[in-house]
Order: sequence, then structure tokens, then C-alpha cells
Amino acid sequence: MERENAWKKYSDADMERVFAFSEEYKSFLTNCKTEREVTDFTVKEIEAAGYRNIDALIENGTELRAGDKVYANNMGKGIAMFQIGSESFEKGMNILGAHIDSPRLDLKQNPLYEDTDLALLETHYYGGIKKYQWTARPMAIHGVICREDGTKVTISIGEDPEDPVLGISDLLIHLAAKQMDKKGSVVVEGEDLNVLVGSMPVKTEKDAEDEEKEPVKAMILKILKEKYGVEDADFESSELEIVPAGPARDYGLDRSMIMSYGHDDRVCAFPSYKAMLELPETTAKTCVCLLVDKEEIGSMGATGMQSMFFENTVAEVMNLCGDYSELGLRRALRNSKMLSSDVSAAFDPNYPSVMEKNNCAYLGKGPVFCKYTGARGKAGSNDANAEYISEIRAIFNKDNVSYQTGELGKVDEGGGGTIAYIMANYGMNVIDSGVAVLNMHAPNEIISKADIYEALMGYVSFLKNIK
Ligand code: MN
Ligand code: MN
Repeated sequence: MERENAWKKYSDADMERVFAFSEEYKSFLTNCKTEREVTDFTVKEIEAAGYRNIDALIENGTELRAGDKVYANNMGKGIAMFQIGSESFEKGMNILGAHIDSPRLDLKQNPLYEDTDLALLETHYYGGIKKYQWTARPMAIHGVICREDGTKVTISIGEDPEDPVLGISDLLIHLAAKQMDKKGSVVVEGEDLNVLVGSMPVKTEKDAEDEEKEPVKAMILKILKEKYGVEDADFESSELEIVPAGPARDYGLDRSMIMSYGHDDRVCAFPSYKAMLELPETTAKTCVCLLVDKEEIGSMGATGMQSMFFENTVAEVMNLCGDYSELGLRRALRNSKMLSSDVSAAFDPNYPSVMEKNNCAYLGKGPVFCKYTGARGKAGSNDANAEYISEIRAIFNKDNVSYQTGELGKVDEGGGGTIAYIMANYGMNVIDSGVAVLNMHAPNEIISKADIYEALMGYVSFLKNIK
């Protein structure tokens, strides 16, 4: 069946809400370019909305009851939020999940070097990218440097219009004849994604005995020392991410879309935690929003979905509710229902050949349900149950939320994975859902303002109504 364009149903008042929510989202995108920044930003906002840090509650043995709001911060790179429901945990939770890491270039642990009077930083790319897209554009550097004494500096350079930007040079077309004949995957190679950061040598006294051998690198180190109090060796204990510089922008003459770095997967993470803040004071089910790191590199690590963080946190929350037992925890997880939200590929009229038009996502038709993901015959996919999809359809239709179904491209064209299958390991019902994106994993991605608004409406409906 064909799905209606969501824009068609909006009243003037709806339109105002759609555009107002988009402004909030744009500001979130502009301020949050890394998983750490998303976590810090979100914690501030949810604390203001009454969410309390679980660590303090555990320490004080504070009891939780229905209506209470609590969150756990996973090493500054992820969050689990809970609003306690009136039903027992064993009946299951309604869970929204999304990831907050995005493809980018990470600095290596010994990044800074000098070559021909230029200072550069070595990088190792994070997530799946077309490397040639990341050259010749303004880039910013975000992250943390941890000194040996345990102190930490937070870095963000390249976002303020007064800041300098950094970047990766590209080969001039005049000398690119051989390069242009190469396969796309090797036009620009991973090892060549070196970020140019300086070209000015430090001055040494004329007859000084110890003239700097690498004066341009020395200049950069001098600046880092003066501005941030860090040394070359401190890069060993740093996490610095090179990301596209600049704010999220309206896209299209009608301003119906947003172009930005990091829609994948902040376009799902943002309405997910916002939906939690729209809940009534009491809900039957315990409602949960889970924002995780490391999805783009396989969800491994302590901050990825494969870690025990979520399960451990649920156990802690149940314990504070006086409702914990090992069996109770297993039942709570098994009886939960989840929307695992991640971006989907929107149909692109420039590249129609990779899509099957009846089963792909379109901009402006609301969040997309992907019953299955995977590749080569659904391999690696969480294939959602028809019974569960029917329940979601019913509540979305009841609340007049636009949605569509689709899959990532034609059969055998490619594929992708999400965090859905990991949560499904608990035996719970999970379905992949999310917002459609153009230019996925490019430095600038595009989404429709109607889609993120419908996602918000859908998430609220899900949390409130799923039985
Ligand atoms: Mn991705
Ligand atoms: Mn994603």
C-alpha cells in the first residue's frame, strides 16, 4: 500500500510545532557532535526535568516508587533513563533505544608529526565512510585529553565562527589523472586522512645551540601547552574526534529538511529522550530510553549495546524499587517491548537503482519500520514478529502517527545492522524503526522535519500505549 506524505495532514498549529521541534533538534545537533557531548547535554536537560542519578540513589539506599525518574550514566558515553511504572517490573518495560556515536575520524594515540614544514595529525576512521568525502572541507576537533595526574581537558575547536578550522587536503584535479582512474574505495586511502593543523615554525634565537628540529610541530605543542596545559605525551590518553565543523542548517528552499553532521543516529536519540519528558506523571509500564555508544563499530566495549550495562542497570533499578530477584530480572527483560531506532535509507531520485520502490523509505512519510535488516538473505537480522508489529500499527494509527515500512535497499544490494538483535537476545519483542536519511554516513546527512516530529509523536504513543 502507498503511504501519505505527513506534511499533508498538518494544521497551522501542527506546522508551528513541527518547525519549533526542529529548532530544538538543530541546536542539539550543533552542540552535540560526539557521544560524550550528547551525554553531557542530555544529562543536564533530564536532571532539570526531575531525573536523578542512580549512583547517588544506590549510595543512599533511596527507595524508588511509581512515577520516579532515574538515570544511569555509562562512563559519560551513554545513558539509560527510567520512569518507574505502576505495574510490577516483571510485566516488562517499554523501551526506546538509539545510538549516539557517529562516523568520524579519531586521532591515533601518537598523532602529531611534522613533514615539509607542515604539522599534521594522524587519524584512524571510525565507522563506515566513503573516505574521499572527508577531504577539502572545514573540520573541527572535539574530545578529551586526560593528563597523567588524572585531570582532564575538554576540547572543542572549530565550531565558534571565530575559531580556526582544520582539515584534510585533497589532490588537485590537475595532477589527479591517475587518482581518478582508481576504484572509489581507494581514491583516498585511510592512512592518508591526515589533518593539517599548522604551518608556522617557532622562532629560535639566531645563534641558539639547540635549534628546534621540528619547529612547526613545536609551535603546535607550544599552543597546546599554553591554551590547554597538555604535552605531546598526553595524546596517549586522549579521545579526540575530527568531525565536520559548523552548525546544523535548514535545507531546501522550503526549509522542510535539515542538513547536518550526525543525524545517524541523533535524529532517533533526540526524539527518544524527548518522548520520555512528555510522559504523564504515572504510566502503567516502566518506560525506558537507552542511548548507547559504539554502534557504528559493532556495539562492542563497555559503552556499546553488547555490554552488561543495561542489564546491570535494570537490576539496580529493580532493587531500589524493592522488586529485585534474578528471576524477576529475567522476566522483566523477556516481557519488555522495544523500538530499536536507527536511521533508514531514504529513497534518492539520483540513485533509484539501489531501491525497490514498494519497500523502501521516503522522506516525509514518518518513521520507518524495518521488520528485518541484515544482508544476503536477512543474515544477521532481528526479524520482528508479525504479532508485535500489529500492536504497534494499532497504536500509531489510533494516535494518527504517520509511519511507513521499508528495507535498506534492494535484495542483495548491500545491508546494515543495528542494536535490535542484541536486545532480542533477552527474548523480548524488538523492531527496528527510525528516521529516513539521505547521504547516510556522509559528512552532512539530510532528514525531513516532518519525520523527526512524527518520530517524537510515535515514541510518546509507544511508551504510553504498548501493553
Ligand atoms: Mn550508521
Ligand atoms: Mn545508525
